[in-house]
Amino acid sequence: MKIVKTISEVREQVRQWRKEGLTVGLVPTMGYLHEGHASLIDASHRDNDRTVVSDFVNPMQFSPTEDLESYPRDLEHDAVLAEAHGCDMIFNPEPEEMYHKNFSSFVDMTVLTEELCGLSRPIHFRGVCTVVSKLFNIVKPDKAYFGKKDAQQLAVIRHMVDDLNMDIEIIGCPIIREDDGLAKSSRNTYLNEEERKSAVVLSKAVEIGKSAVRNGVRECAEIISEMKAKIESEPLARIDYIKIVDAETMQQIKKIDRPALCAMAVYIGKTRLIDNFFTEDM
Ligand code: AMP
Repeated sequence: MKIVKTISEVREQVRQWRKEGLTVGLVPTMGYLHEGHASLIDASHRDNDRTVVSDFVNPMQFSPTEDLESYPRDLEHDAVLAEAHGCDMIFNPEPEEMYHKNFSSFVDMTVLTEELCGLSRPIHFRGVCTVVSKLFNIVKPDKAYFGKKDAQQLAVIRHMVDDLNMDIEIIGCPIIREDDGLAKSSRNTYLNEEERKSAVVLSKAVEIGKSAVRNGVRECAEIISEMKAKIESEPLARIDYIKIVDAETMQQIKKIDRPALCAMAVYIGKTRLIDNFFTEDM
């Protein structure tokens, strides 16, 4: 497995693979890889002849008050994990390689980004769409893999690819969880012991929401209020949002009468965690 830092090295390698008639999968990540990322790499390795993992903490998707500086990084660990799951090349650029000093072009999106995480993180999806577009242009993969953990991000990327006629198949992969149900996340490392125990309340609320839907409840307000009660029973938890939206448009709905996404963001202490379920996956 190669670790490369420059766009030209990625292009040269991918050109070589293309000459050999090989297919290429891309797994975009911000590094500090865990089993959630590994499941995406596994899926790409299964579907494609070659797999590229991008390992880049993208400054453009963090607002000035967010955790860009403290975001965990460990390239050596990432390399071991990625290689064990069939990655052929890690692309680990410096920010200057991705954004030269006169950088001034952005990929932005309305509507889908104006709900859920887009409300509390107003510049986030512009950063995501821009960096993912760049990665697509650099790697030119056949398929790209994204986790359902970041459900709105997955919907936004699908929409961008459709709007801008990008010739890439987007594959959404299931949420990988810890044994107690907490969705795996690089940000879980911010939690102290007490917070880590409290954080399980997110997945417990997801289970409550799912069982309400399974039991035939269709009123979103009723489902949300059951989930809210669970989160509010945990003293260290503070709700940013719990919402139910149309799974494609990300617009709020009142009744589950179409494929829906139930998503939440909850602070545990200072750490903002997300979790969700798609009704179609139940
Ligand atoms: P990140 O490094 O957090 O930006 O995540 C990179 C990719 O891995 C995104 O597509 C995430 O949705 C996905 N991912 C992160 N955590 C998980 C998880 N627990 N299960 C599945 N996919 C995940």
